[in-house]
Amino acid sequence: MSVKENLANIEQQITEACERVGRDPKDVRIVAVTKYVTEERTREALAAGVQHFGENRVEGGVEKRNAFGTEGIWHFIGSLQSKKVKKMIGSFDYIHSLDRLSLAEELNKRAGGQAVRCFIQVNVSGEESKSGLEPAEVESFVRELAKFPAIEVVGLMTMAPFVEDPEETRPFFRKLRELRDEIQQHQFSHAPCHELSMGMSNDFVVAVEEGATFVRIGSSLVGREL
Ligand SMILES: *Cc1c(COP(=O)(O)O)cnc(C)c1O
Repeated sequence: MSVKENLANIEQQITEACERVGRDPKDVRIVAVTKYVTEERTREALAAGVQHFGENRVEGGVEKRNAFGTEGIWHFIGSLQSKKVKKMIGSFDYIHSLDRLSLAEELNKRAGGQAVRCFIQVNVSGEESKSGLEPAEVESFVRELAKFPAIEVVGLMTMAPFVEDPEETRPFFRKLRELRDEIQQHQFSHAPCHELSMGMSNDFVVAVEEGATFVRIGSSLVGREL
């Protein structure tokens, strides 16, 4: 399938999910996760009208992203080692995987006077294999981030467990939304925390129903070729 056809299909599903819960589809942005595909296929997505792109590795991801110059808005969605921050920081507009103070410190140090827009990754399901903070740790973590002036907490991110029936992911997405609402209520100047990065190919419809503002979609949008 062409990216264009896949995109139309996904947008239709987002529109229908929004209608069911009374949301405006414009509040949901699609991040095309291009980690499985070549630069050429990524360009096909750009030509189809995709504006947001997600890569999960510094190796390869930075080179691919840099080939696009000023085109696209680029999201770093993978786990990030502090020693690799220097290499990637200038290339990405958003980082979805802030999960520890040592990483915030390094991002702040390397920011070069620019704001670093971050999502805090939360392990809502508590699965051992997933990274992210425990929900109960998030608020104090946000408070501590105030000491790093470059860090701007734009929202929260999670990955739900992979399950056959996407309906089973709903409680995890709902929990992330409740946590986002709690943080937002504090009106921290360094943490507006409006956004929710949640939902992938198998579960984005449920995520949108539960409030996702960024869905990260790879295989069902651009496919897998690498
Ligand atoms: C790979 C990946 C995705 C996209 O996965 P698909 O199931 O192919 O849509 C989304 N988020 C993160 C963090 C990923 O690593």
